[in-house]
Amino acid sequence: MKFRTPRTVKILATRLKVSLVDLAGECGRQAEIRFWKKEIRLDKDNPNAESLLHEIVHSVDEQLALNMDEDNVSRMGTALATLIADNPRLFHHLADVLGGGQ
Ligand SMILES: [Zn+2]
Repeated sequence: MKFRTPRTVKILATRLKVSLVDLAGECGRQAEIRFWKKEIRLDKDNPNAESLLHEIVHSVDEQLALNMDEDNVSRMGTALATLIADNPRLFHHLADVLGGGQ
């Protein structure tokens, strides 16, 4: 399924802009988060859900002062991606129950 990049994503108390840029050309990365600019940047040639989830975990880590290291962020991002992929109907249901989709 093609990944549709959201324009923004609300993460806890913060809404972050999601930008598509030549990130691979700039620094060789697929994604990065700029906390001070409230922005997640994804490489324009390969925006993907896994990279977005990884940066979302970075934002949660920052906002909650969890002090996760990069390996923990990567593992949590992969776990979330797998959980969502393995349970798509559950996540639709949870969004309905929790009042999402507004
Ligand atoms: Zn990272």
